[in-house]
Amino acid sequence: MKNYDVIVVGGGPGGSSTSLFCAKKGLKVLLIDKATFPRDKVCGDGVSGKSVRVLRELDLIKDIESNEHAKMNGVIFSSPKGDVLEVEAPKKDTKEPAGYVVRRYVLDNLIFQKAKSHKNVDVMEGTPVIDVLKENGKVVGVVVNSKGNKEEIRANVVVGADGASSIIATKVGAEKIEEEHHVIAVRTYYEGVEGMKDKIELHFIDEVLPGYFWIFPLPNKRANVGVGMLTKELRRKKVDLKKAVEKAINSKLLRERFKNAKPLGELKGWSLPLGSKRRRGYGNGYLLVGDAASLIDPFTGEGIGNALLSGKLASIVIEKAYSLGDFSENVLKEYDELLRKEMDEELKVMYNLQRLGRFKFLLNLAIDKARRNSELRRIISSTLVQETSMQYKKKLANPLFWLKVLIS
Ligand SMILES: Cc1cc2nc3c(=O)[nH]c(=O)nc-3n(C[C@H](O)[C@H](O)[C@H](O)COP(=O)(O)OP(=O)(O)OC[C@H]3O[C@@H](n4cnc5c(N)ncnc54)[C@H](O)[C@@H]3O)c2cc1C
Repeated sequence: MKNYDVIVVGGGPGGSSTSLFCAKKGLKVLLIDKATFPRDKVCGDGVSGKSVRVLRELDLIKDIESNEHAKMNGVIFSSPKGDVLEVEAPKKDTKEPAGYVVRRYVLDNLIFQKAKSHKNVDVMEGTPVIDVLKENGKVVGVVVNSKGNKEEIRANVVVGADGASSIIATKVGAEKIEEEHHVIAVRTYYEGVEGMKDKIELHFIDEVLPGYFWIFPLPNKRANVGVGMLTKELRRKKVDLKKAVEKAINSKLLRERFKNAKPLGELKGWSLPLGSKRRRGYGNGYLLVGDAASLIDPFTGEGIGNALLSGKLASIVIEKAYSLGDFSENVLKEYDELLRKEMDEELKVMYNLQRLGRFKFLLNLAIDKARRNSELRRIISSTLVQETSMQYKKKLANPLFWLKVLIS
């Protein structure tokens, strides 16, 4: 039977990052994915400042720059009453943009191939994991379906990086994600979209509320386009997301820009487990990273950054478990502490912001005031830069701040 230090299930950003960081620490890793790379992943393809930070650490920025990508240097918002606000990202000393838009077909393959080429990483593609192996209440490996045959593979630690419908999370009995902490979204690609800039667009227009419609620009007038909504609201209002996309494209604000645009494929749906209620991401012999651990930003829907970062944090704890020769939850629980320190404050703030954003009058007020107030625009702009984002996000998520704006 094959035996590894670490088995990583899932080769998305979370799994490839975990594999690379573990491999750099000298651990022998098996990375398993049911898909064969390159593969698509339903996503907005927005690569934010946090993602850029970890991708830089993994020396992947030059790979992004030499493949198909669009640079992102700001955000365009529109409000329910149709006001449009354009926010520039603060200028940096370096030429690096605030973020990128990279199709996941491209981005995930770059990270996956980097992991695959590391001498300490073995890879199994086109191989679904179908179960975990347990002994005395501890996870000791996985069962894969290898070309129709069941195969057992052992490791000291199994990392579930298998996304929103994680089989590892299910098999270890992790909590179900509540609808208050879960989003359903659909997206497709369009070509021929007019009027795009080097900015991602978030449209809080009436046609899609209480969700938002996004346009993330790609090269050659192509764009990633979609709508997302909190599952609780979606069920309560019986919203059809496909119809919501149609309505957004035909809205007064956007119809001219989509006049000659053509969809490049079907709308595809996927779920977003939000970090407003993280899952317990550790136990005897296992850790969960990325979407499997429910780490997505509850306001923006971004999860690539936290998937990459959680992979790094997982590797720190796995290395410690090795040095102690103890893979029990007593040691692995330190992962939860690292997640708490690195992410919880931001996740909480972004959840507060998401809740404020459910009030239509506040969306109208915020966008209207920011159009006329350069200081407010500067605050929003500063949230786009990793180094300064927290202090400004906190401001924007504070109802008192908006009360002051209202009476100013
Ligand atoms: C519509 C939409 C828009 C989004 N937009 C953005 C955005 O613009 N920016 C952003 O940062 N985030 C965005 N997100 C969130 C982002 O897509 C996720 O947070 C991110 O993909 C999480 O990475 P991951 O590695 O945890 O999981 P994934 O990327 O889902 O990777 C999981 C991997 O596990 C594999 N796998 C699954 N089951 C098994 C199994 N049983 N055996 C073996 N392999 C398995 C899959 O094939 C896959 O390769 C969006 C999400 C959605 C749904």
